[in-house]
Amino acid sequence: VATALTFSEARRLVIETVSSARPRPAVETLPLSEAFERILAADARADRDYPPLARSIRDGIAVRAADLPGELEIVGEIRAGQAGGISAGPRQAVEIMTGAPVPDGADTIVMIEHVTRDGNRVRTERVQQPGDFIQPAGAEARGGQVLVRCGEPLTFSRIAMLATIGCVDATVFSRPRVAILATGDEIVEIDERPEPFQVRNSNTYSLASQVRRSGGEARILPVARDEYAHTRALIELGLEADLLLLSGGVSAGKYDIVEHVLADLGAEFLITRVKIQPGQPLVFGRARGKFFFGLPGNPASTMVTFELFARAAIELLGGRNEAPLPLLFARLTSEFRHKPGLTRFLPARLHAGGFEVTPVPWTGSSDVPALARANAFLVADAERERWETGELIPVLLQ
Ligand code: AMP
Ligand code: MG
Repeated sequence: VATALTFSEARRLVIETVSSARPRPAVETLPLSEAFERILAADARADRDYPPLARSIRDGIAVRAADLPGELEIVGEIRAGQAGGISAGPRQAVEIMTGAPVPDGADTIVMIEHVTRDGNRVRTERVQQPGDFIQPAGAEARGGQVLVRCGEPLTFSRIAMLATIGCVDATVFSRPRVAILATGDEIVEIDERPEPFQVRNSNTYSLASQVRRSGGEARILPVARDEYAHTRALIELGLEADLLLLSGGVSAGKYDIVEHVLADLGAEFLITRVKIQPGQPLVFGRARGKFFFGLPGNPASTMVTFELFARAAIELLGGRNEAPLPLLFARLTSEFRHKPGLTRFLPARLHAGGFEVTPVPWTGSSDVPALARANAFLVADAERERWETGELIPVLLQ
């Protein structure tokens, strides 16, 4: 059994291993309206310059800077959506609206607020430089320039970018298939009535939700009994997917047989322990050419280890270029202490608008009610013991 890694060592190992050994995913083409949050599978390039023509970024008059200040004659107007075909000669002005192409001859825009008008005469006291309030052609992008890279997730702003360049259909990577295998003799399905010594299977449901959010497609397997042949048959089935997630059965108990089964299937174990809480006995490795995670079975351990490690693996297998941990910082509303040595991920509530976070009291990693009251995990550094009220602390959103 390998030694325990620190949180950041383990994360780096997962990211490096998956990045270097992942197959290129299959691709599919979708209408742009269905491509939100998918991963773009080919560079998207500008079909023309943006903007294609120099345009005004203010309402006002288009003039020659050399004529300023002074009195000018209005010779016409140009509005957004109009093709142009008008020009401004010496001592002439063209009324112009935001977004309209700058008339030939004009080289600066004087804002409407800085102009007094009398009939077709305008006067301004402004002194301006050529180019003021004009966005030159190609200022945002040049024709042919890559605007969204292959491997980038289609956020709403990238959807806007693809719409702008007339990308009616988007070529995206197919979702990786992620098998979910819960284990444990005490686990019953959610439509069953558990005996007092049994618990309903919540991990399959939290994991399926997390898989979905990571861009994967969940393949749910039946719960494996803590028995060799049954567990082995289901693990073999799970290894047919692109990634296998197991919950439970990776601690040191007599019936924690997941690692034995995987070892018999020729698994290479890259991680067997991480200095985190919850989730210390995390297992990560590869068998039959597929990556797997053995996530500790307590619900908080399963959720946290998924977010910290499996999420990045699924994102990378889904064709993303990178898989950053989406941390933010918030101010503690109370003093906070923990025992150093492990990086802890504890339920917390991030408050609306205030950038403030409050730890949610809990009884330990089986406390789903506390997790459900929380909306985030507070991240307590393994090397620190205490934080004061008002100090910034990293927070991982649920
Ligand atoms: P294990 O990691 O197998 O030792 O499981 C630790 C504890 O997590 C068990 O005692 C169960 O109470 C709980 N647990 C394991 N699997 C699940 C599951 N699928 N859904 C809910 N709780 C679970
Ligand atoms: Mg178990």
